[in-house]
Amino acid sequence: MTQIIELKVKPDFIGHYKNKFPLINKDAVVNNESLSLEGTLVHLVDDNGNFLGKGYYGNQNKGIGWVLSFNEGEKIDSVFFKNKILTAINKRQSYYKDENTTAFRLFNGEGDGIGGLTIDYFNGYYLISWYSQGIFSFKEKVISVLDELGDYKAIYEKKRFDTKGQYIDDDDFVKGERGEFPLLIKENGMNYAVYLNDGAMVGIFLDQREVRQALRDKYAKGKHVLNTFSYTGAFSVAAALGGATKTTSVDLAKRSKSKTIEQFSVNGIDFEQQDIKVMDVFDYFKYAKRKELKFDLVVLDPPSFARSKKHTFSTSKNYPGLIKDTLAILEKDGIIIASTNNASFGMKKFKGFIEKGFKDMSMKYKILEEFSLPADFQVDRNFNQGNYLKVVIVQKVN
Ligand code: SAH
Repeated sequence: MTQIIELKVKPDFIGHYKNKFPLINKDAVVNNESLSLEGTLVHLVDDNGNFLGKGYYGNQNKGIGWVLSFNEGEKIDSVFFKNKILTAINKRQSYYKDENTTAFRLFNGEGDGIGGLTIDYFNGYYLISWYSQGIFSFKEKVISVLDELGDYKAIYEKKRFDTKGQYIDDDDFVKGERGEFPLLIKENGMNYAVYLNDGAMVGIFLDQREVRQALRDKYAKGKHVLNTFSYTGAFSVAAALGGATKTTSVDLAKRSKSKTIEQFSVNGIDFEQQDIKVMDVFDYFKYAKRKELKFDLVVLDPPSFARSKKHTFSTSKNYPGLIKDTLAILEKDGIIIASTNNASFGMKKFKGFIEKGFKDMSMKYKILEEFSLPADFQVDRNFNQGNYLKVVIVQKVN
């Protein structure tokens, strides 16, 4: 019989769990010191011992575990994991059938009923991300569901739970036949090179799929495009395929250059016709201003928080400034694709940052389009933080 620990919820938090809030916060429970072994099943109860929810203990940067069920009678066993994963797969049938898109998120943590666990599908390969030692302890149950489904080439994993909640650099291969990397995936007909066994990041962020498609199909044609915080240049590829006259990609990570060259090359784009700069974005803004460079379209997709040698960037403090820097080098009628993955604020506040940037420059704009997470990144409607992606496409008006 597996041990179950009762966690007493503080009165202020009882309402949260009655409203099916899935995250177990350290502050929400009285006796979190009774927890020792990650993966232990827990029952949340009120002062009188009444059942509120059940889940597991696992330390993450967010919280100390996740509620898995609000139904007292439901068992957390192999059948539970199987049902959750099969339900998630059923919801993604349209992605499986789409020959032009061979990579998508198959299981999205609490959005699919199991916080701390994501599974991505990359053209025949599964990539499981474990966000705590606690969820990792259920590894066999998760793998056996994938085994039962069969028909995969291999399973890889990312363990994102060292002491600082960071990725543990390991051999990420789990089972099957080792892949040869780069693995080529398709996204709405575009090719992307992906590495499942080379550090925490694989080369593409699948949650921006619809934004890349919009950039290619609606905004790039005939435009001079600047892609900031460009990583492997995924947005630059979409822009070039959409008929941009030229793209400039800027990222300070040294390997971004070879990675971007690779992404262009797997799409048959001559990278020598494109600009790829290994540089601090904030220095690039100054450089572009000095050289009087102007762009028709600028992609802004910074990390939530970044520290470089000279600058510290935090979305909530510095996004208006980023908009201002952009406006200084934006052509008449220019377009900005403004994106953030910061979960700590919502769309309204994000739009406020954009508004402030334009206002400080005494410029006007109109919103052309907005994006949030695509359907394969299922969101738990009782957990707003899970709905982290916000993208607003705006056009400067004169
Ligand atoms: N837009 C990318 C993902 C960005 S990930 C995409 O769609 O794929 C964030 C990137 O920002 C990382 O590659 C990191 O190297 C880069 N970065 C962080 N701070 C930076 C800075 N000050 N200047 C340039 N790049 C920066």
